[in-house]
Amino acid sequence: MIVILKSDISQASPQYLEVMEFLKAKPGIRTRVHKEVGALQTLIEIYLIGNTSTLDKTEIESLPGVERVVRISEEYRIIGRHKDDTRPTGFDYNGVHFDQHNLNVFAGLCAVDSPEHVELVMRALKEQGQVCTRMGAYKPRTNPYAFQGHGAQCLPWVFELAGKYGIKVIAMEITHDSHLDEIRHALETTGRPTGVMLQIGTRNTQNFELLKIVGRQQEFPVLFKRGFGITLEESLNAAEYLASEGNRKIVFALRGMKTNLGDPHRNFVDFAQVPVIKRLTHMPVCIDPSHSVGTRERDPDGILDLMHATAQGIIAGANMVLVDFHPAPEKALVDGPQALLLKELPYFLQDVAIAREAYDKRRALTQTFLSEQSP
Ligand code: PEP
Ligand code: MN
Repeated sequence: MIVILKSDISQASPQYLEVMEFLKAKPGIRTRVHKEVGALQTLIEIYLIGNTSTLDKTEIESLPGVERVVRISEEYRIIGRHKDDTRPTGFDYNGVHFDQHNLNVFAGLCAVDSPEHVELVMRALKEQGQVCTRMGAYKPRTNPYAFQGHGAQCLPWVFELAGKYGIKVIAMEITHDSHLDEIRHALETTGRPTGVMLQIGTRNTQNFELLKIVGRQQEFPVLFKRGFGITLEESLNAAEYLASEGNRKIVFALRGMKTNLGDPHRNFVDFAQVPVIKRLTHMPVCIDPSHSVGTRERDPDGILDLMHATAQGIIAGANMVLVDFHPAPEKALVDGPQALLLKELPYFLQDVAIAREAYDKRRALTQTFLSEQSP
């Protein structure tokens, strides 16, 4: 059960204390307070843990400080959508809005290699009016002898270049909690020219200790990749770890499943699950066509499989696209074969816009149909 307090109530208010006193008197019920700090106001939600079936929803709603009470199912308590649950689906970060209705594209380097390549990518993004990118500094690699990413040492120049080209959010994977401190430190020393969305990679989906640490901070939002060899339910439970620790600024990313049944694609594309995640949770949904498809193969008309997959995800309502580009893929230190070329960026963005327009039309069509059905 979630008790949502009125927006003007703080933890010092007598109404807050009254609600807490009331709940404390209920046997077997523990409380966990969540503060959602927004630009204009702080919202307080009290999560009730224990046997809440005996509690009277209407009685709690009659307390002066209470806005409303939501009964929740056991699963995905915070990230989940529950009956009569009208909590918002999105968040703002560094001037960019994320929710289940809009679409943000994060095109960029799988792995940061040279300042020249980072600058070429960022300049191309600016020319196309893009304010988000992906830049991998810490790369989890299958082979211990493969390039592991430039790590902390590249952060200052990546962030400065981002500032120079008006990039507001960089999706960047971290694989250890020390990376969080390194990112914080580099942002501080460069004067915060940009923002970072912390990416949890598919190899760390169930690294619960990392999730707890990332969940305990609310400074950075999180791009959470589904685990490539576990069920969707297990991945969603893992995302709940972030929220249960306090951070609910989470975008959930589909990136394909590891099975040879997806051959010849690198992974089996799972973008048909975009609507499933929107139905079960409040999280905006990202698709990663690069790591799903993993090649630059094309159909007889010349359309890349990777762009087909992108369009499939968007036409199903995806809210974010994470996609690899590289100025010289043959020189890329990681995942060159799946990278799109910078000259393909305007073309890619136009194709994205076509798919998005089709999705908007499908939504409008469905709304018309449903309104004609209702009595
Ligand atoms: C990546 O986005 O660079 C990446 C390694 O993705 P994943 O964790 O999905 O393999
Ligand atoms: Mn990659």
